[in-house]
Amino acid sequence: MKIGKILNHLENIAPGIYQESYDNSGLIVGDRNTNVESALICLDSTENVIDEAIKQKCKLVIAHHPIVFSGLKSISRSDYIGRVLIKAIKNDIAIYSIHTNLDNVANGVNKMIADKLKLKNCKILAPKLDTLYKITFRTQVEENEKIGGEIDAAIKSEFDHFTIEDFNVVGISQEKTNGRSVSMIKTEICYPKDRHSMVMKKASIINEEFGTTFEISELQTPNVNIGSGMIGELKKEMNETEFLGYLKKQLEVEVIRHTGLLRKKVRKIAICGGSGSFLLNKAIQTGADFFISADFKYHQFFDADGKIVVADIGHFESEKFTRQLLFNYLSEKFPNFAFRLSRINTNPIKYFK
Ligand SMILES: [Zn+2]
Repeated sequence: MKIGKILNHLENIAPGIYQESYDNSGLIVGDRNTNVESALICLDSTENVIDEAIKQKCKLVIAHHPIVFSGLKSISRSDYIGRVLIKAIKNDIAIYSIHTNLDNVANGVNKMIADKLKLKNCKILAPKLDTLYKITFRTQVEENEKIGGEIDAAIKSEFDHFTIEDFNVVGISQEKTNGRSVSMIKTEICYPKDRHSMVMKKASIINEEFGTTFEISELQTPNVNIGSGMIGELKKEMNETEFLGYLKKQLEVEVIRHTGLLRKKVRKIAICGGSGSFLLNKAIQTGADFFISADFKYHQFFDADGKIVVADIGHFESEKFTRQLLFNYLSEKFPNFAFRLSRINTNPIKYFK
């Protein structure tokens, strides 16, 4: 199968456009047109993982974390990034990363953690503000009627099935054209940013066929389907130590670093897989009892300030189920293709017990 076909499916689930500005998700090594017979799924594309891919004859490595994160000035064997890249290129292995775009979608990294904890009523914790657009068509009522409502029907059929229904508005307005008042049908359709090029194509078809004009504007409405973290509720309230035990068991973690317990019942749980301290205030504002994340620094633990319990379970631990998530998405879509889960534990942190 062409690498591009596999990646297109992943990018339908988590469009690259939703990655954070500092990120480097996408195809890091290789060519979308290359044919591959199997792919290896991992959290980190370390040198050991590339060795595993060579052994397993996988010509594509799909990782959560990008091996190249910031600008490179050289590719040499003197650092681990260079060694990975040289080995991958020499062995004709492509490396792809699906990172913060998979963090930012409703069925991504955080939903996997929420499902492990069996949370209900899950929502994005911090919905993004700049990911919705609106297209507005203006058609003269008279023109539309002259051809049996064809313009209106064409707009509806072109834009059926991929818009956010609640946002679609159709109305008649009076507008002045060349000094006379004209009745116009105004159709407004809201759509997510990842569909922008498709919308432009469809709008051009309408414009070419009927001369109907359109305008595009960016909305500042929060997009409940795209954003950071997740919040959900436990099916049954627990006390705090009970919940810590449950968390340890469900997420298979050895150690949890946490702030002081508040002697409260636990029901609302905020989550952010990986480094999530930037969401602590949001978790407090939304009334979460616990915030499960990773990479908290000493002083950041103080910021919990008796308002929430922060549970730092470790970066690798919070994201280790991401491999399974990718595997599930891919093997559902391509049941006859050989997707393999890496067996290597890439956690750079070890615990001395
Ligand atoms: Zn991470």
